[in-house]
Amino acid sequence: MQKITVAKGDGIGPEIMEATLRILEAANARIEWEEIEIGQQLYLSGNTSGIDKKAWDKIIGNRVFLKAPITTPQGGGYKSLNVTMRKTLGLYANVRPCKSFHPFVATKHPEMDVIIIRENEEDLYAGIEHQQTAEVVQCLKLISRPGCEKIIRYAFEYAKLYKRKKVSCFVKDNIMKLTDGLFHQVFKEIAAEYPDIETDNWIIDIGAARLADTPEIFDVIVTSNLYGDVISDIAAQITGSVGLAGSANVGEKCAMFEAIHGSAPTIAGQNVANPSGLLRAAVMMLNHIGQQDIAEKVKNAWSCTIEEGIHTADIYKEGVSKQLVGTKEFAQAIIDRLGRQPSIIPAADYETEVQLLLPSYTRKQPAKKVLKGVDVFVDWRGMKVKELATSLQKLNNGIELTMITNRGVKVWPDGFEETFCTDHWRCRYEILEEEQVPKNYIPDLLSRAIEADIDVIKTENLYEFDGVKGFSLGQGQ
Ligand code: NAD
Repeated sequence: MQKITVAKGDGIGPEIMEATLRILEAANARIEWEEIEIGQQLYLSGNTSGIDKKAWDKIIGNRVFLKAPITTPQGGGYKSLNVTMRKTLGLYANVRPCKSFHPFVATKHPEMDVIIIRENEEDLYAGIEHQQTAEVVQCLKLISRPGCEKIIRYAFEYAKLYKRKKVSCFVKDNIMKLTDGLFHQVFKEIAAEYPDIETDNWIIDIGAARLADTPEIFDVIVTSNLYGDVISDIAAQITGSVGLAGSANVGEKCAMFEAIHGSAPTIAGQNVANPSGLLRAAVMMLNHIGQQDIAEKVKNAWSCTIEEGIHTADIYKEGVSKQLVGTKEFAQAIIDRLGRQPSIIPAADYETEVQLLLPSYTRKQPAKKVLKGVDVFVDWRGMKVKELATSLQKLNNGIELTMITNRGVKVWPDGFEETFCTDHWRCRYEILEEEQVPKNYIPDLLSRAIEADIDVIKTENLYEFDGVKGFSLGQGQ
């Protein structure tokens, strides 16, 4: 018996969880569940995280968590519990299979069978945001080498294990040369270790367009957090319904399984929600805990139900479907078909339903880091950048002002009058002669700035790593 944690969630959560657990019980899954309360009730009782310590203890104790969707109240300083859980538990890989079930579920993409593997812990979802001036706010995009290596290796191991032919990388490294550039670079390095798997790289905008238009050209897609979030909802929706897709959030120590859709409050309590997303997530959970026999049985019974045209409202289509059913009746139809094999949808078997285990990540030796300068960010409401440059040049103390940008565009030296400027200026100081900036130069520069009444709002050090610049140029530099 495997003990798992279960949360029934909000909105349609309780209905789809009840249906899923009934099916698992009828299939004789060797699981015992412990229920926790998370989400809206906790948020509304004043807990801004949506989860309490008792619930954390159970999740960490059991290590396997089946979770229904929860409602995140808008505004009010509430943090998304989903994001908190994925990051706190180190669930770095979010696996989202998006498959069409043509001709049983109406879709424009009958051949679609894409696995989206989304990085789950970093990127803009680090949630580090600041208002820096009256006019400018900032969100930090953090991409780490360990984060890229872990998710990209996971994608290749997944492809190898499940006999997938191709892994595609989605990035925007023509613009974000350091962050997305690192993701792409690591993709190339790891791809070289898997010569039998075909690879390609897509700029996210055209990649997303092709995914929406011709998804059959993709097999496994690996991408960072925000891009993965957006493209997996699109991909799930175009298979026929967002209600069909389940997902696994996997880490080295714990795993969490959930539908990819949300709590759909507008259809809650009406017995109309499709429980397939959560059920398919539960099948991924059964594989994860080594109960392939049950996973296979549940998946095949689900396929039989879909093939026989027994459909919930979201996928019901006149002429394609045979019987419109509610959540409970759909679950009963699956239970009635346990032990049967589908005739057209490919049957699940031990070949396809296997457990993916990865060795734990070992950190590499750090590169040699040399300080070459500093970007000083200044809040300034003047109009003539030359005036700002003159007062900043007076601060030169062995590191010299080399560039000023506004929202990333170079405005000094040799800027254009046409460039629109806000109150947020990035002023770059670099060492021109010596090997590296002595440590005391930067605090000294900042105290001179304070004396000169310059409103410094933040600084970013400029480093070289093993002789390679670790900072981007200004746009137009
Ligand atoms: P949603 O996915 O809940 O619903 C969008 C629409 O999709 C629904 O109105 C419904 O028409 C349809 N739909 C979704 N699931 C369905 C199902 N199982 N069966 C039939 N139709 C289904 O998205 P939303 O309305 O943007 O979000 C509602 C709430 O869910 C928000 O509070 C959001 O924060 C939360 N949310 C939670 C999770 C999660 O817990 N993992 C994920 C996404 C959104």
